[in-house]
Amino acid sequence: MSSLAPSRPGLQRRQISSSSFADAFESARSNLAKFDHNSDDDDDDIVSPGLSLADSLTEEESADTPPSPITPATHPGTPRLDPDVADDFAFAFDIDGVLIRGGQPIPEAIEAMKVLNGENEFGISVPYIFLTNGGGKFETERCRDLSRQLEIEVSPGQFICGHTPMKQYASHYNNVLVVGGEGEKCRNVAESYGFRNVITPGDILKANAATAPFRKLTDSELNSSRDLLEGGTKKLSDIVIDAVFVFADSRDWASDLQIILDIAQSKGGRLETRSETFEEGPPIYFSHSDVLWSAAHEHVRLGMGALRRIVETVFAETSGGKQLKTHAFGKPQLSTFQFATRLLQQWRAEHHGLVESAPPRTVYFVGDTPESDICGTNLMDEKTRDSEWYSILVKTGVYQEGTVPKHMPRKLVGNVLDAVNHGIQREMARRSRALDTTSAGALSHGLSHLTPNFDLDIDDQS
Ligand SMILES: [Mg+2]
Repeated sequence: MSSLAPSRPGLQRRQISSSSFADAFESARSNLAKFDHNSDDDDDDIVSPGLSLADSLTEEESADTPPSPITPATHPGTPRLDPDVADDFAFAFDIDGVLIRGGQPIPEAIEAMKVLNGENEFGISVPYIFLTNGGGKFETERCRDLSRQLEIEVSPGQFICGHTPMKQYASHYNNVLVVGGEGEKCRNVAESYGFRNVITPGDILKANAATAPFRKLTDSELNSSRDLLEGGTKKLSDIVIDAVFVFADSRDWASDLQIILDIAQSKGGRLETRSETFEEGPPIYFSHSDVLWSAAHEHVRLGMGALRRIVETVFAETSGGKQLKTHAFGKPQLSTFQFATRLLQQWRAEHHGLVESAPPRTVYFVGDTPESDICGTNLMDEKTRDSEWYSILVKTGVYQEGTVPKHMPRKLVGNVLDAVNHGIQREMARRSRALDTTSAGALSHGLSHLTPNFDLDIDDQS
């Protein structure tokens, strides 16, 4: 078995010309198609109600911002077709615990990105997107961070974070409580999504410090928090919260828990009221449900999913056993993966020129959390007829070596570079087999002049 571990300069190890490979493969495939009338063109498109591609961009990007240097303003009529791009497979990556840990890149991640960008022995570049449950920043800001950390250009056109799908609710609610993140960032993100009246826990604490007895706002927080008791509003009970959105991890769990529970147990979301039935609260949305995540500490840390469970548990404890049903976006929700599918299709068209291309036959999803990454990928694979979704679990994050993952991946590897190499090797072995089959078919039909002429030195690792 040869290795795809890149050596510089990577292309020197190339055993075939990628163009000749692509040409040979393409002509073999088109000839094969002449004998194969069992196409699956009638497969249904994936439908994900309520999510649109524009959800991947912030308001400012979708409106005024010119395309980034790596997101050319291509249109269906003017694709920039890259002859060396892999058109039938792609990668999608979780970020924390796979590419980044504690704000620093996992060393193999930088190499893995180079392999995907063509520094491999086949000379092909492979489309990829990022799908993280994290958040708390503008998508553009997080992409800038990721670009610096991974030494590549990352475009918002290939990026989905936990709160991206919340944009679809911006026009549904008037007053929303937005929880989590640093300072005013999540309020700013929510407003950029189009939410009209965004209230934060800091605003409520500023209006009534007794709401959370042990939380004292700093001078800076007092300055940045809005004054809710101005204009026509005389008391907090004049304000009705229509929905609660937990955008990012709470920076003060105690006061945020208190305020979320107050609203959950209120009369229809009216602040400082208490329902007698505990059945009148507004909907509560979390951007994801991961209980654990991989940060700088040697052991995994508590995430937003833990707060969600605490909210639900304490609600029941304090309401005579009434159940609170909250909602979560992000992985492993199927709709998040369906959204990722459409984002990937758009990215392949706009960035790689794969405008008329069928969906990738295989999407390799690389993650570190069995409960979200692997569960969601396997579920997507079950539900999708267009593409195979192939789950790869790495050992650099939440999953601990030697334990049995709650959801079994198709492949367990050490790190993200191993994952990328595995996917590419598996694809090349598959192409090799397909070409062998095509060659045999061509020969039997007197088409020997179309037989591709090259050699692949890899084993099937699937
Ligand atoms: Mg992760």
